[in-house]
Amino acid sequence: MLIDNAAKTFLENISDGNLRFDEPMSRHTSLRTGGPADFFAEPKSLEILVKIVKWTAAKRIPYLIIGGGSNLLVRDKGIRGLVISLKKGLNCITENRTNNVCVEVSAEAGVNLQRLCSFAINKGLEGMNFALGIPGLVGGAIMMNAGTEHGFMEKVLGSVNVLMPDGKTEKIDKTNLDFRYRELAWKPEYNKGLSSKSSNRPIIISGNFLLTRNEPAKLKEEAELFLAARNRKQPINLPSAGCFFRNPQSGLTAGELIDKAGLKGKIMGGARISLEHANFIINREKASAVDIISLMEEAQERVYRLFNIFLEPEVKIVGE
Ligand SMILES: Cc1cc2nc3c(=O)[nH]c(=O)nc-3n(C[C@H](O)[C@H](O)[C@H](O)COP(=O)(O)OP(=O)(O)OC[C@H]3O[C@@H](n4cnc5c(N)ncnc54)[C@H](O)[C@@H]3O)c2cc1C
Repeated sequence: MLIDNAAKTFLENISDGNLRFDEPMSRHTSLRTGGPADFFAEPKSLEILVKIVKWTAAKRIPYLIIGGGSNLLVRDKGIRGLVISLKKGLNCITENRTNNVCVEVSAEAGVNLQRLCSFAINKGLEGMNFALGIPGLVGGAIMMNAGTEHGFMEKVLGSVNVLMPDGKTEKIDKTNLDFRYRELAWKPEYNKGLSSKSSNRPIIISGNFLLTRNEPAKLKEEAELFLAARNRKQPINLPSAGCFFRNPQSGLTAGELIDKAGLKGKIMGGARISLEHANFIINREKASAVDIISLMEEAQERVYRLFNIFLEPEVKIVGE
């Protein structure tokens, strides 16, 4: 037991009633799978989040921070320790500095990414349309360097505000962030003070985006085109985590490789490789994480055998 009864009561008090025990993670992931988290907190403010994080540092409790859960596969036995969801708090968008050409917009980590896209369009601010249709929250999108053929988070971000695992906040300029394909890696200086055993990592609390002025009507027109094209290509009505694998650096995409390996439509238990887009693994009916991982491994093995390419998952696989 990582958290005893006294600690439980303390955590319940500082969480302001937003704490649950043995919370099924299937309720918080777009794949709709995942066993229980021992503790699940939904802080409503930065102040509460800071208190919780300071407490985890003092008690050496591991935490996992989640946004919309749209890029997460939680294993069937769930998560030991504390899951912190930002869905219920940190949801302000503000315009900071501005001049005739450029506007800095700050969005807190709990803001739905689609809300930020709509905000930008309505205010006549160009730059966010690439993210239209990507599920999840701003913090998760920054961590995943989420993107499409039209752009990705790194391109529009100026800086981020983060909460360190010791409870201190810090503003980090983009030049000090290590953005990669569908990933933000923390440079070693931002992991300082953490024991090598600790899995706790900095938490994005907001992103500062640099957008340029344009006509709202033009941005709306572009948005409709982007969304229509996207909806034609992706199976959006069934539970999934979007593209399951990263695309290889060159050559065929992960979806094309899986398709050529003859795996489109392949079923394992409740999971299936989508017939529409072979890089989507769908929860067709009460799939377990084991079903999904078995399909993932089957795709990895077949593609490796046929093309000598190892497909790396883009989805974050967590838990026991
Ligand atoms: C139908 C569908 C379509 C998709 N299409 C796309 C697409 O076109 N392009 C694309 O890039 N992705 C796509 N995705 C994947 C996913 O939506 C993105 O990766 C999204 O940005 C993840 O955001 P989230 O808030 O759901 O993050 P989560 O899934 O909750 O978390 C993702 C990772 O970020 C970490 N994290 C989350 N919030 C924070 C925070 N505040 N601070 C620190 N770490 C944090 C988590 O621990 C986890 O490791 C799609 C998913 C689905 C279901």
